[in-house]
Amino acid sequence: MQNHSIDPKSLYRLPWNMADNGITWLEPTAQCNLNCYGCYRKNIKNSHKPFEDVKRELDYFQSVRKTDCISIAGGDPLLYPQIVELVADIKRRGLKPIINTNGIALTEDLLDELKKAGVFGFTFHIDSKQGKGRDPKWNDKNEVELNELRLYYAEMLASKGGIACSFNSTVFQDTIQYIPDLLEWAHKHIDIVHTMVFILFRYITPDTPYDFYAGDKKITFDDIHYHSNKSEVTDLMSTDAVNVIRERFPDFAPAAFLNGTKKADHFKWLLSERVGNKDEIFGYAGKKFLEYVMTLYHYKKDRYISYASPKTLSLGRTTLFNAWPFDKGIKAAFRNYLKYLAANPFRIFKKVNMQSIMIIQPVDLMPNGDQSMCDGCPDITYWKDKKGTEKLVWSCRLEELIQYGDFLRMIPKNKEEANTKKELTGVEADK
Ligand code: SF4
Repeated sequence: MQNHSIDPKSLYRLPWNMADNGITWLEPTAQCNLNCYGCYRKNIKNSHKPFEDVKRELDYFQSVRKTDCISIAGGDPLLYPQIVELVADIKRRGLKPIINTNGIALTEDLLDELKKAGVFGFTFHIDSKQGKGRDPKWNDKNEVELNELRLYYAEMLASKGGIACSFNSTVFQDTIQYIPDLLEWAHKHIDIVHTMVFILFRYITPDTPYDFYAGDKKITFDDIHYHSNKSEVTDLMSTDAVNVIRERFPDFAPAAFLNGTKKADHFKWLLSERVGNKDEIFGYAGKKFLEYVMTLYHYKKDRYISYASPKTLSLGRTTLFNAWPFDKGIKAAFRNYLKYLAANPFRIFKKVNMQSIMIIQPVDLMPNGDQSMCDGCPDITYWKDKKGTEKLVWSCRLEELIQYGDFLRMIPKNKEEANTKKELTGVEADK
């Protein structure tokens, strides 16, 4: 496979930061009706937070951080008894409520209630390593076969109208090959599928070269929630996903990113925006388009956009006609669109849509034991420590705070071993 490197300077660095971000993460419950492999949270029965506490978390977010949307996650938030009231409360605060769910508990009636309450969108987590818990007909299906289930939810939302529809999946060494198939499927449904998210798997494995500490207390490897008992690949990079995608779609072009806190040229969130209709993808937006959208939205609303509405995303044709002078990517897409129209001018009546593709590369472990997180983490959530101090923390590592009251530190067992990671990360262990 060809190795396509990406120059970070060719992309727009998303302007998200701790105090001003597109997204903030809220967990009203840790209870779930699935046990997905790769999940960063313990599934705890009857762990619903009192509604007043959840509202307090929202108050805290709003006192310290500008945000465009609230990702309501968990656990599965559809199991939260006051989910409809919670969505209505978030909407009343002028924020966009997005529900991150596996979809199992979503019924037509609940969807109607959530729509009435003001839900902005759903992100359905569907992949082939979620274990049993869905209708048995979905057991042991591969990523491609699960597209039928994805379509079920996409059509369900589309039938109500005006609700953003995203899908995310955890990507493993043996499933990365399916990303192009999922993108092909998403293209086929570009009118009703608005975003595809691929989250690269991260766990700690038995061959870890690190010892783990909470304060001065050494933590045994198998006590840590995110550990795997088998040796497996846990350091897939966003560029690996791009390489796989470009095998099938050579023109695939990311436009924006978030870097790592320890590595400026790591693509922790790598965003592509493609423009097309069911016949063809005309092209990909470039960095100037993303900069223009972020800046304009912030100027108007005093916050950075995260999710766009289905109505906005259906304005692909308007975007092509108006934004081409400002952005090389849109200009190339516009050229392709004109060629497409030249072959048959009646095609102008076909809607053109925009669709987002995000690749997420969670925590990277540096050879010296540092942990590189997403710089400008959008999935920041709430934590109250033992002294009662409220804080914003990484949601992907909440389990460490719950178990040990602190984030774990990692110390290389021996420096030679730690340096074997040097090739991958380009960072040497401490001398
Ligand atoms: S740091 Fe963790 S919680 Fe934040 S965006 Fe990255 S993976 Fe998500």
